[in-house]
Amino acid sequence: MTHQSAEILRKIVQAVAGNVKKQDFLTYFKKLSLLSNEGGELVFGVVSSFARDNLAHKFKKEIESAVAAVLPEVESIDFVVDSEIDNPSNAAVIDCLKEYKELTTSKKKEEEAAVAKEEEEMGGINVRMMNEKYRLENFIVGPSNQLAYAAADAVSRRPGSAYNPLYIYGDVGLGKTHLLQGIGNTIKARFKDKKVIYTTADRFLTDYVNSIKKRTVDKMREKYRNIDVLVIDDVQFLAKKERTQEELYNIFNLMHESGRQIVLSGDRPPKELTEIEPRLKSRFEWGIIVDVGAPDFETRLAILQEKARAREFILPQEVAEFIAYNANSNVREIEGILNQIIAEYELHGKPPTIENVSSRFQKLGVTNDALGQRGQARKIARSYDELLDAVSTHFGIEKKMLIGEDRRKENMIPRQVAMYLLKNKMHFTYERIGNIFSGRNHSAILYSCRKLEAVLKKDQNLYYEVNVIRDKLGL
Ligand code: ADP
Ligand code: MG
Repeated sequence: MTHQSAEILRKIVQAVAGNVKKQDFLTYFKKLSLLSNEGGELVFGVVSSFARDNLAHKFKKEIESAVAAVLPEVESIDFVVDSEIDNPSNAAVIDCLKEYKELTTSKKKEEEAAVAKEEEEMGGINVRMMNEKYRLENFIVGPSNQLAYAAADAVSRRPGSAYNPLYIYGDVGLGKTHLLQGIGNTIKARFKDKKVIYTTADRFLTDYVNSIKKRTVDKMREKYRNIDVLVIDDVQFLAKKERTQEELYNIFNLMHESGRQIVLSGDRPPKELTEIEPRLKSRFEWGIIVDVGAPDFETRLAILQEKARAREFILPQEVAEFIAYNANSNVREIEGILNQIIAEYELHGKPPTIENVSSRFQKLGVTNDALGQRGQARKIARSYDELLDAVSTHFGIEKKMLIGEDRRKENMIPRQVAMYLLKNKMHFTYERIGNIFSGRNHSAILYSCRKLEAVLKKDQNLYYEVNVIRDKLGL
């Protein structure tokens, strides 16, 4: 095979990579060779019959359209196991994984070039700091962040005239930076001529100190004079830096007077920023102050699903629920767990199951900083097995009776309690609970849970016992 056919194959593989999900591409496209191209038929060589069946059935359309784009004269394609595919002297073999990596790096390079160009136009201000992936559209709104989102949305529609400044505060990992950059990105997209700067207080400080050293303070001021929107993240880092605070105070006044938008974030409300000069603090309070709080279960679940979707990773519903339930409220940690699950899948082929994820949580329980994040008290994952153990021990019955079919009351009630806790406190799906309990169907579980709820309303003793079990498990 010639060098030319390797080139053709590479183009086809690149086109396919753009057509299929990343996860599928990495799983099913290992190596491809080009065996022949004659009479309108193109024959690919693949590594195994498994690969052949998958490509021929699952991805035929995608491959065909990629082929059509590169070789319009081809009318049909076929796949054959190629015994020579691992032979290093075979020139027309494409390592799809390598191709995929190259494709993504070249995309990155293009993006970087675009950023560099923009930076130049902005007189060297750190445009680079804003990340495209933080957008208002992919920010999940729930009760904990509804107000902050509404304010961010209003500001991005009418910069300078909705709320000025907008000050968002909350604990770490709850979405402040996402909202701030989302505002910046949205304004940039909506108002092409508006100049937006996103910076952190830390970075602002460094820029200022450097400009003092280099005697270019005037130049720095000049830059800020010309912008329309100033976004400063984590203003608590200005604590005790009086001169930097003064500089910001001046910039703030200048911008505010001329109706230009300022957006700020901090880890606490302005009045609690004890080491920031009162006059600057009072400026922070001029507009609107909103907080972001810890997301509830439903919001955590929706965030997790959105993050998985953005990574094109298929996360089974029950696994997503399990993570959302067990993770604490810091969204960055939830993302960290997702990243690890994806890595384990991509590197070791370990599929995302409750069992695999659960062992990850157990590990987290012992090494608090396993994800490299700031440790906070976190719940240790509870597998359903642990719950079954606790319920059967509490009622003094065997586990096999608990999950079995026996309809005597002494077994039925504990069984319903276990189902009820799995559904209402551990957020398992009815299907999954059915699988645990000898393959019962969805509606049987639903019925049992409803039944128990009704009983609990009347039976004080049982209600008490359920609470004892919950206490034991921390549910
Ligand atoms: P903070 O700045 O408050 O410490 P970040 O904005 O950096 O937190 O959020 C941490 C991570 O969690 C980011 O990747 C962000 O995209 C994600 N995140 C937080 N809240 C949400 C949300 N409501 N919707 C989507 N992603 C979120
Ligand atoms: Mg932040």
